[in-house]
Amino acid sequence: MRRLEGLEAQRQEAPDQQISLSDPDARSMATSGRGSGVVGYNVQVAVDREHHLIVTHEVINVGNDRSQLSPMAEQTKAVLEVEELDVVADRGYFDSEEILACDRAGITVTLPKPMTSRAKKQGRFGKEDFRYVADEDVYVCPAGERMTYRYKREQDGLMLRYYWTGACSTCAIKDRCTPSKERRVNRWEHEDVLEAVQRRLDENPQAMRERRETVEHPFGTIKARMGATHFLMKRLKNVRTEMALSVLAYNLTRVTNIIGIRPLIQAMGA
Ligand code: SF4
Repeated sequence: MRRLEGLEAQRQEAPDQQISLSDPDARSMATSGRGSGVVGYNVQVAVDREHHLIVTHEVINVGNDRSQLSPMAEQTKAVLEVEELDVVADRGYFDSEEILACDRAGITVTLPKPMTSRAKKQGRFGKEDFRYVADEDVYVCPAGERMTYRYKREQDGLMLRYYWTGACSTCAIKDRCTPSKERRVNRWEHEDVLEAVQRRLDENPQAMRERRETVEHPFGTIKARMGATHFLMKRLKNVRTEMALSVLAYNLTRVTNIIGIRPLIQAMGA
C-alpha cells in the first residue's frame, strides 16, 4: 500500500497526471470501446488513395487525434510538393481550429462532426435543425421564426456569435426545442469553413468508407507483420525508429507489388 501511495503521489505530480512503469514515454490512448483503453503510442499515417502508400507518418504519445489534422495534412502536402490537397479523416480529428488551419493552407478537409449535441440526446432539436441565412445573418428555427444576431463572446478560445428570437414564449413546439426562456444558437466566426466540410461529406457519403479501406490496408499489413501488434522498442525515440522501419518495409513491398522488383531497383538507381 505504501508503494502504491508513493506511485499515486508521483502520478499526481506528473504534468498529464499519468505515469507508465514499463515505458516512461507510453501514455493512455483513447479507444473506441467504452471503458477500454491501451497504454502505448499514437501512430499517425497519411495514405494515398490510389496506391495505398504511406506518404508520411508520425509517432506521438498524445492520447487523441484532435490536434493532429493540420500538422499531418501540411506534412503530407510538403512531401507530395502539391499546391492543393484533399484530406479525408475520421471524426476523432474534428477540431474547428485545425480545420481552419487546413483551409488557410489550401487543404480541403472532409470529416464528420462528432455528435455531442445535448439537446439532440435529450430528444430536442439539434443545431442542424436551424438553417443559417448568410445574406441576412439570421438563423431560421424549426418554427420558421428568424433568430437575429444579439452579441458575441469568446468561449474556449473561439469567438462565438449568439442568435435568438423573441417568439419562443408563445411557440407551439417550444417543448421540443428548449426548457429555457428562449432557445439560443451560437455560430463560430469561421463557421462557414465547417459548413463547407459538412457539405463535402453530404455530397460524398462514400468518403468515410473509402477512408477506412485506404488507411486500414497499411495498418492491417503492418500489424500482421508485427505479430502480436506490440512495438518491440521502448521510449518514444526508439519506437519512432521502429515504426519508420515498418513503414519503409511496407512501402517497399507495396511498390514491388505495384510495379515489380526490377522497375523498383531501376527507379532507386536513377
Ligand atoms: S422555441 Fe423558439 S427557437 Fe425553438 S422552435 Fe419555437 S420559436 Fe423557434
